Amino acid sequence: MRKLQADIIYTNSGEPLNNGILVVDEASERIKEVAPEGSYVEGVEKKEGVFCPAFINAHCHLELSHLKGHIPEATGLVDFVRPIAKLRQEFTEEQIQTAIKAADEEMFQNGIIAVGDISNVSNSFAQKKRSNIHYHTFVECLGLSPQRALPEVERAKEVLQDWASEQHISLVPHAPYSVSKELFMGLQEVNTKLGQPILSIHNQESQAEQQLFESGTGDFVDFYKTLGIELSDIFQATGRPSIYSTIAQLSDPNTRLLLVHNTFTTKEDLVWANAQLSDLWWCFCPRANWYIERNLPDFKHFIAESSDRLVLGTDSLASNHSLSIWEEMSLIFKKTKEITFDELLGWATINGARFLNIDQDYGTLEAGKKAAIVWLDTTRAKFEKALQAKNIEKFSPELL
Ligand SMILES: [Zn+2]
Repeated sequence: MRKLQADIIYTNSGEPLNNGILVVDEASERIKEVAPEGSYVEGVEKKEGVFCPAFINAHCHLELSHLKGHIPEATGLVDFVRPIAKLRQEFTEEQIQTAIKAADEEMFQNGIIAVGDISNVSNSFAQKKRSNIHYHTFVECLGLSPQRALPEVERAKEVLQDWASEQHISLVPHAPYSVSKELFMGLQEVNTKLGQPILSIHNQESQAEQQLFESGTGDFVDFYKTLGIELSDIFQATGRPSIYSTIAQLSDPNTRLLLVHNTFTTKEDLVWANAQLSDLWWCFCPRANWYIERNLPDFKHFIAESSDRLVLGTDSLASNHSLSIWEEMSLIFKKTKEITFDELLGWATINGARFLNIDQDYGTLEAGKKAAIVWLDTTRAKFEKALQAKNIEKFSPELL
């Protein structure tokens, strides 16, 4: 047994403990007991600073890791997406694999224990299988033309087979502006057969997406033209933001759905969406929003309306400088006066674990859970001062 003590322990189950002790069974790698100060004297390993549960990254694209630093910032989403197809061909398989491995290891070093990871293809699967991190893979489908729906579902089913095990994998639509109704329906049928109806979709990420759905105009019209697609042939503006179309296409209102980004989601959209679905989750990747659009979601509405359904993601290294949930938290904490550290930590840990259906193992520090413990090596005084100043970015989390 290891007995680990820290100045402050955030268990996510009750108030933080002062000088509490986590008793860990090394054989099972699980927490045996969460004990108050003074319960044990002998054999206690005292660490300065803070313990909290390991982080859950609900949205990543490991397979894009080699694009780090290759796409300029602040271009808006359309010009961000434009070079990706061409860039994908400019790297060797070895370069891609090296980048995937490094990104997976970077996440683990940053205290991330589980990831919801988008895969268009299967080239990240080998690393995900050998990783220390738990992965749920979302095989992503694309295609706005209704004729492409069937072939795309067939292609995605082949990617599914490369995962070998049917555990922790589902098919997902890329975004409202890139997936036809037929494709959306087709992939939901596959998920139902798999028994894994967890969906994820990029939502209201850019101004261009809003314009497209509201009035059929904006940068996406030109973008599709350059791909040889006349949007007016296959797409009709609805006069309402894309979220209304996305939710209308769900075949079951009890489906677990993660909406990712939500940069332009209004309070009205949020309240309406929450009323339609029983298992709706919202993911923020603020550093990617800043990278691409120089914009951030309006967090205060989400805090008021759905705090226990909010999770965090890093997006990919194509749109971020690092894969660190702590850095995403630091940005939100600094920019949002309405949020407390305890609440934000819930988004980064237990909420993500509940979304990925792994809260029996992760998300809190309690007896019976896996000993996935993040340590912030600091002092109580420095940590408390940082909380007051709403500036926590200087700390580097590490897994014990
Ligand atoms: Zn994404």
